Amino acid sequence: MERRAFLAAAAATLFVPAKTARTLAGDPFTLGVASGDPSIGGFVIWTRLALDPLGVNGRGGMPVRDVAVDWQVAADERFSKILRSGTATARWKQAHSVHVELDGLEPGREYFYRFRTEGRLSPVGRTRTTPAGGQPLTFAVAACAHYEHGFYTAYRRLAEQEPDLVLHLGDYLYEYGPSGYTALAGRVRTHTPGKCATLADYRLRHAQYKSDPDLQLAHAAAPWLVSFDDHELENNWAGPVSSTGAPAFDRRRAAAFQAYYENMPLRRGSLRGAVLRVNRRVSWGTLARFHLLDTRQFRDDQACLDGVRAACDERLSARRTLLGADQWRWLEGGLAASDTGWNLIGQQILMTQRDYKVGPGREVNLDSWDGYAPERTRLLNGLRGVSNPVVLTGDAHMHHAAQLKPDFDDPDSPVVATELVASSIASDGDGYRDRAWVAEALAENPHISYLDQRRGYIVCHLTATEMSVDFRTLDYISRKGAPAKTAQRLTLPAQESAHRLRS
Ligand code: FE
Ligand code: CA
Repeated sequence: MERRAFLAAAAATLFVPAKTARTLAGDPFTLGVASGDPSIGGFVIWTRLALDPLGVNGRGGMPVRDVAVDWQVAADERFSKILRSGTATARWKQAHSVHVELDGLEPGREYFYRFRTEGRLSPVGRTRTTPAGGQPLTFAVAACAHYEHGFYTAYRRLAEQEPDLVLHLGDYLYEYGPSGYTALAGRVRTHTPGKCATLADYRLRHAQYKSDPDLQLAHAAAPWLVSFDDHELENNWAGPVSSTGAPAFDRRRAAAFQAYYENMPLRRGSLRGAVLRVNRRVSWGTLARFHLLDTRQFRDDQACLDGVRAACDERLSARRTLLGADQWRWLEGGLAASDTGWNLIGQQILMTQRDYKVGPGREVNLDSWDGYAPERTRLLNGLRGVSNPVVLTGDAHMHHAAQLKPDFDDPDSPVVATELVASSIASDGDGYRDRAWVAEALAENPHISYLDQRRGYIVCHLTATEMSVDFRTLDYISRKGAPAKTAQRLTLPAQESAHRLRS
């Protein structure tokens, strides 16, 4: 207690008005705060200073100098009990972003954090450490938030549910210029000018997204585990290959990665030269382990000219990879070594086979796992020995629930895992219900049990014995204020989530 009291006193002194003569000409916390990657004793806390989110060159209207930023972590929202504090440098070279990694805190509890610089105080964020034991977990899954397509009410509703953790599985932002995504009736707001190509463009786009109050609320509500998909850089890019033949694509990719790192609560070691490493594991005590994948950076180019189309033989080539050799070994080893009750594989693109063509013949999305079928078969066969695997997915702009089988065309092929696909936060606008279309699509794909074309997110409540899944939907996003409701609830009993049939 004495030590705590001392720290609190020391921290209180720290937050006395700064002695520096320099002051920023306004509120530098216009992009909010965030936290991420929780561990048993810590997490990352993040902010990025911007006086004007849409300032020129993606610089947020900041002066050309580094800025000292004080930070505090407390046990309570009013900061009466400050446990940790320090000063970080928001560097001009890193667009005035701050990533502070905490460690040595108590497991399995809530913490609050905030920043201060040159007399200005940030909003307060809530975060938590992971537990040591088997305590239950409530987590949300989100993806695909095209800014022009609607308001971020879904992020606000997600925040109001106060999950312990948020998984964001990609398309956090879109690179297109204004109306660059298939003309959508009822566009509610406009992207910053131009398609993103340079570091300045990506920084500016991130700042535009982060200035949204609903998104800020969701970041401040819980730690996030983020992994990018394609639109954080360019539609349907694949490893070193641009889908549009963009010039100097390696430079563009490096710029998008740097801006992504600068704007996300990622650990400082995530950006390693030209590689942004987001495949990683996070354990929730003995209950669950998240295995986050990167299905974009290490993949071979899409087969059969990409797109949703009749499949050619190239997609069946066993030489082609989606994860890349290193990540494959990392995943295989991690699943084999996992000793938690649940194994939650967070990844970007649809894993289930899905025939998009109603009636005879088959059309598949060659950008998803259907375009890399042999590697999927290997992975699904490997899941037979894994404790309670559940695959969590984004990208599809529709809720899906599916049963994953090594051979989807064989009715006797065992179900080895459940896939839960989160619809989009905003991409594709208001959404709709077309019951006739859904009935046809489900009949075409008997291993898919649920489809929903409305906007939304997923909330999962996980215990040692079961996973309760709420598919949350909103009826509109072209106006603010839509309520979220549970359109579908699924319960996965622990031993049956994999329906393991050992022969
Ligand atoms: Fe998307
Ligand atoms: Ca068909």
